[in-house]
Amino acid sequence: MSTPILCGIDLGTTNTLAAHFVITSGGGEVHLIESAEGDLLMPSVVHFYPGSKEYCVGRSALGFALNHPDRTFRWVKRYIGKNITWAVEIDGNELLEVNARTISARILKEALKNARREMRLPELPTEAVISVPAYFSEQERVGTKEAAEVAGLQRCRLIEEPTAAIFEFIYELKRLGQLTTRFPSGRGHVLVFDLGGGTFDVSVARLDLTNPGEPRVQIVANNGIRDLGGYNFDMELLKYGLKLASKSSPNLPILGELLVAAEELDIDGKISDREHASLISNALISAEACKQRLSSVPRREITQQFTLYLGGAAQQYVDISRGEFEDLLAPYLARIKGVLQETLAILQDNTNGEISRWEQLDEVILVGGSTRIPAIRDLIQEVIGFAPSEDVRKDLVVAKGAAIQAAIDAGLPVLQVARCTSYDYGIVDPNGTTKVVIPRGSQYPSQHKAKYKVPFSLTTRLPITIVENAGHTGDQAHAKVIKEVSYFHPLLLTGDELEVTCSIDESGLMKVFVEDPRSGEAVESSIKDISMTDDEKAQARQDVEEGISPHDAWNRYEPDRDEADGAL
Ligand code: AMP
Repeated sequence: MSTPILCGIDLGTTNTLAAHFVITSGGGEVHLIESAEGDLLMPSVVHFYPGSKEYCVGRSALGFALNHPDRTFRWVKRYIGKNITWAVEIDGNELLEVNARTISARILKEALKNARREMRLPELPTEAVISVPAYFSEQERVGTKEAAEVAGLQRCRLIEEPTAAIFEFIYELKRLGQLTTRFPSGRGHVLVFDLGGGTFDVSVARLDLTNPGEPRVQIVANNGIRDLGGYNFDMELLKYGLKLASKSSPNLPILGELLVAAEELDIDGKISDREHASLISNALISAEACKQRLSSVPRREITQQFTLYLGGAAQQYVDISRGEFEDLLAPYLARIKGVLQETLAILQDNTNGEISRWEQLDEVILVGGSTRIPAIRDLIQEVIGFAPSEDVRKDLVVAKGAAIQAAIDAGLPVLQVARCTSYDYGIVDPNGTTKVVIPRGSQYPSQHKAKYKVPFSLTTRLPITIVENAGHTGDQAHAKVIKEVSYFHPLLLTGDELEVTCSIDESGLMKVFVEDPRSGEAVESSIKDISMTDDEKAQARQDVEEGISPHDAWNRYEPDRDEADGAL
């Protein structure tokens, strides 16, 4: 029997990392995969070379963000559930249309090429587990799956980032034989606080370690904010610097223009004016580095500096103290605090009151680069009442956990897992009110059935709508239509009852079927808004293939030759 390829990919807003699970006599261990440029954390950046579809991914692509931001794509994960497209000039008037999914496909392809090289495989892996934020919506999950398909994966399952992190945390303790010292009662609850470059997730896992060979991890609550992360903090720094500079230099119109350009970037993911895009891109890189340095300064009054580029040789320096930066963070900290407080309520709900106070948690683990910010750690300690654990490798755990999920999927006795939904889902009644079919916190994979009464109507076509975040409190303000079934029947009668089945698969994705109980006929839903057609996917796949540079590391790697050289 051939050895399974057990590959996991953390497709992050800022960085991407792949890992693979290696089966050993002692069970298995997870190895991280370097990029062709020697990085563990490969920047999630794609640059298209001028005049062609050819592209590069990673550190070199990030380098091009400075001078060629119009051909360089960063932070696309923020847009993966949206219908925003960007055009890249490839040859004269010819334009290549890309979107967050097809850009992500290029990042994934690069991660697969890295995996192939490091794992010495004859072909690219065709299966992988890809992590997504726990608070990702249905559309964002579908977008990620489509990116995987375009990258050439035949099978891809999604895993929530905090779930992956907790897998790695538990698996590592198991490997080191430290589970019982850490959780002497054999049970426990762990909160994962995950704040990365673009998203914020909180999950709570219930652990049952009474079978030490195969610990059980049950996710009992998820919460978060889909568009909050380090990117927002960089942007705040940049805008703050521009406003300060405008005050001291009111005669420089470029400062106001750059402020407008920064807003544009925030909304559309791109800036239309190339010169402005380049200046903003440079300043953001400088602001991000300044933000990271501020995390290491011990006191509020100590400053760090970043640069605003104003065109040509003109530039201004902005000095900002850790205290000023924390003041800029205040609105985000308040939102994070709100999410934490709400999480406790969700936890209480989902555990039928078993967990109702933070003291009942055993551990808090921090994941994601932005948890290095001291104000974030202080906030967690203030709300939860105890200090987070320090022995988690916050940048690496998610990719490793995804590889562990690949091992579980291959049937290896690694861990047992149960997950729960982050949202509730409902069906919109003919009179416009929503009935919750799947309450938030429901375990999945699962199937839920509901009845739908045909309203008084002369039509034979019936639109049935499924919404996400239906809100069991009755608040439908944030409900989002995710599925629509256009049900057709020549003999639809008022009062007929149709059976609607909503099933959630292992990746947290929903399928909806409407069935007529008389005929047994079923119609499947289609997804609203995004979703690529098969033709679009085929075209995108071809574009991705055509753009692979003939000089890149994947093409240079020939396993047969390396083996002959004794490299294995
Ligand atoms: P991740 O998505 O987990 O790779 O996190 C990336 C985010 O973490 C980026 O916004 C980084 O700027 C941020 N980050 C990394 N290191 C630090 C640090 N020392 N202080 C503040 N933010 C950081």
